[in-house]
Amino acid sequence: MSTYKDLAELIFPDVKKTIKDLEKQYPPRDLKEGAYVTRFAPSPTGFLHTGSLFTALIAYRFAKQTGGVYFFRLEDTDQKREIKGTGEDLVNQLQVFGIKSDEGYMGDHEEGNYGPYQQSKRADIYKIVIKELLKKGRAYPCFCTKEELDQLREVQNANKVIPGYYGEYAKCRHYSIDEQIALIKEGKPYVIRFKSKGNHLNHVRVHDEIRGDMDLSENDQDIVILKSDGLPTYHFAHLVDDHFMRTNLITRGEEWISSLPIHIELFDTMGWARPKYAHLPVIMVNDAETNNRRKLSKRKDKEAATSYFLESGYPIKGFIEYLLTIANSDFEAFLLNNPKADIDTFNLSFEKFSLDGALFDLPKLNNISKEVLANMDKKTFTDQCLDYAKKYNSELYELINKDRDYFESIINIEREQEKPRKDYEKFSDVLPKILFFYPDHYDQLIKNELPFNEFIKKDVIIELLKDMKENISLDTDENTWFNKMKEIGKQHNFADDRKEYKKNPQAYNGWYADAISILRIAICASTQSPKLYDVLKILGLEEIRRRIDSVVAKLQG
Ligand code: GLU
Repeated sequence: MSTYKDLAELIFPDVKKTIKDLEKQYPPRDLKEGAYVTRFAPSPTGFLHTGSLFTALIAYRFAKQTGGVYFFRLEDTDQKREIKGTGEDLVNQLQVFGIKSDEGYMGDHEEGNYGPYQQSKRADIYKIVIKELLKKGRAYPCFCTKEELDQLREVQNANKVIPGYYGEYAKCRHYSIDEQIALIKEGKPYVIRFKSKGNHLNHVRVHDEIRGDMDLSENDQDIVILKSDGLPTYHFAHLVDDHFMRTNLITRGEEWISSLPIHIELFDTMGWARPKYAHLPVIMVNDAETNNRRKLSKRKDKEAATSYFLESGYPIKGFIEYLLTIANSDFEAFLLNNPKADIDTFNLSFEKFSLDGALFDLPKLNNISKEVLANMDKKTFTDQCLDYAKKYNSELYELINKDRDYFESIINIEREQEKPRKDYEKFSDVLPKILFFYPDHYDQLIKNELPFNEFIKKDVIIELLKDMKENISLDTDENTWFNKMKEIGKQHNFADDRKEYKKNPQAYNGWYADAISILRIAICASTQSPKLYDVLKILGLEEIRRRIDSVVAKLQG
């Protein structure tokens, strides 16, 4: 009679190493108390999804804030779904968002002592572990064909029993070792399954750092651990990897809770310490058609791709801050109270995690982003704006590069002060708002109709502007300049007192705010602008006079 050992040797004759060897090769890490080893473990199946960035961010920050290690592992065992090149893209995209791995798969190379960090390169390691499971009788070859499995599912559906490969339905589990050996020798293709000892009527208690204790039905499924292509499935691979990479905190999407009992049984069977788990809430949206909440979808939502936020010109810091508000309910208050603080001084906590999927909130992102842009110093703003423009907006790129100092002086209006002006939500807002500062563009803009108040006579506007042109002075402080404008207005019958004007509007052409507005429109080709005095200072007297002349000529023309 053959033994489990004979079966293991038949299947893996070349595997000589043992789990003990692996334990030695990948020793426990030397960590300080409370330090987390976390990982981001995506499959290379496409672009960086917003939900994945969120997951990576959480893993990254828990490692960083505890003085631990964050690494990147590429889970590329499903070669049918793999899209070539996306592993490297994911690494690069995460870097753009400031998430740099301490070790792991880096795209074109690897770093760290716990590799390989690419699952397809770890086949030998998995085989060592599976060989031991076979020896212990906790794994077995399964020869069922796809047709047999389909048929099993049909029978189970018809009988309304839980589908899957388990207990009495697990045909190959019941073969004797001799039968298994004979079938292998016959050359029948097979996969390897884990032999579960669970019973789904029993409960297993698992602690989740966010959700607390969860009582879940035990696993009883004999899951496939090694596929016919020689690569393991996710359930098994992550177990081996997280054990030998010494991950002590698994942060991943809540969609994995349902398979948690499998993972728990696997860890317990191996006699390996269970890592801590934190299953993260999924980012949701309100479906525009059904008005129901649903997961952010790759196919339906532009917000599902992180690249959308980069192309739209959101500052990276703003987007990260927004994601942190999804993570922890007290982060927003932290931001409000410390608008200039380094966000790395905020520590995430599991207690403050929201449990239900967070609803993606674009207005909130816009507000946060506006705050971030307003609080940047002019150099940082310009550097980041240039980065954005280089990739997505060539006109803006040229404008900045033509005269960076000029650009900086424009965007510095009411910046670098206690309560900075909040002009922009994203870098894509910059160009239309600053175009008028550039004489060539201004000349184009005033070809359109100018938004002067239609109740003020054209002649009045012309005379007022002419007078302003002659008497404007920028050598004074803002107050003196303003009073001077008011005084000129008064000479053209614009009331210098609002109440006076309101009492008797017919007696006046307007009040002084109307007079200032006329100047603003003439200079900026818009009723809105940053502080006019600052605008005038940047343009200089000569350009101001040129602009007034152009507008007067247009009005007279
Ligand atoms: N490769 C899995 C995924 O793409 C990783 C899940 C995990 O973090 O363990 O979702």
